[in-house]
Amino acid sequence: MPGVTKDRVLQALSQVQDPELHRDLVSLGMVKDVAIENATVSFTIELTTPACPLRQQIQRDAEQAVMALEGVDSVRVTMGAKVPGDEKIKDLAIKNIIAVGSGKGGVGKSTVAVNMAVALSQCGASVGLLDADIYGPNVPMMMGVEALPPSPKEKGIQPALAYGVKVMSIGFMVSPGQPLIWRGPMLHSAIKQFLMDVDWGELDYLIIDLPPGTGDVQLSLVQTVPLSGGVIVTMPQQVSFDDAARAVSMFKKLDVPILGVVENMSYLKLEDGSLRRLFGEGGGEQLARMAGSPLLAEIPIDEGIREGGDQGEPVVASAPESPGAKALNALAMSVAARMSMTLRG
Ligand code: ADP
Repeated sequence: MPGVTKDRVLQALSQVQDPELHRDLVSLGMVKDVAIENATVSFTIELTTPACPLRQQIQRDAEQAVMALEGVDSVRVTMGAKVPGDEKIKDLAIKNIIAVGSGKGGVGKSTVAVNMAVALSQCGASVGLLDADIYGPNVPMMMGVEALPPSPKEKGIQPALAYGVKVMSIGFMVSPGQPLIWRGPMLHSAIKQFLMDVDWGELDYLIIDLPPGTGDVQLSLVQTVPLSGGVIVTMPQQVSFDDAARAVSMFKKLDVPILGVVENMSYLKLEDGSLRRLFGEGGGEQLARMAGSPLLAEIPIDEGIREGGDQGEPVVASAPESPGAKALNALAMSVAARMSMTLRG
């Protein structure tokens, strides 16, 4: 009879899903200390939050999966909880790391990330902007930067500088028109490199533009640095809700405090002053309620916001008095206020 091996145990556990995140325990990095003694297998499952209501189900599923292996007579599972910030890079000189996420693409997540970064910088803060959107790294275009400056060997990777903001993008690492398929481990090391090897210097804020949805980038980030908070961008209509709610659940599950929800493209202001809610209404408020966090802003549909994005001139810098810029500026200020109120700052 073949003896059981660590690989086979991990293989079996990679078939067990976290019921909320819909991802397996191994790729979530939850399985630790696998030990095999004769026909007894023991291991630890490290949950991301101590108060995980699904811990019994996860434990039972994991036990069953390993018991089903040939050569296993008994299984001992220890359930633990990771201390937030454990094993993560702590010596970055960055005070606040804020991730901007969304349920799906096209809701204005990058627009919000870019304008928030520029607005904070215009207030005198030192700000970095990391574009981790592997599916559509649009930050270079929106910030009007094409490439990274040269990097002297001893100084690490130099970020680009635009509107006072230090900019790094996953888009700088691929040639245009050559989409790269990022696999888990490669992505993880790219994210690590972005955070450790880029010469960010001292920052008050690092804003991270996440890919839409709930995937590997989010996990890698959370495993690499202590995130100070997350902002979720959504649109008013109901069809966005389920996707956005998943993004909220993922932040919660990964112990990232949700600073609040941004509803984008909430309304169009007509010349007579009336508001047209083209995309319906209520989505942002409903999501904020679900997240237990405030609705931080309702950003209007504004041609200037779109033009600013296309031309690489963020609207908060190019037309600060426009309604769109004012709303985005107010959003940045309330995020900054929340950071200094509720978290370390
Ligand atoms: P995501 O990052 O969610 O995919 P983007 O930020 O790239 O979305 O925005 C998608 C498109 O919508 C861009 O062309 C952007 O300029 C435009 N856009 C975003 N927000 C607004 C807004 N409030 N008003 C007008 N256009 C907007």
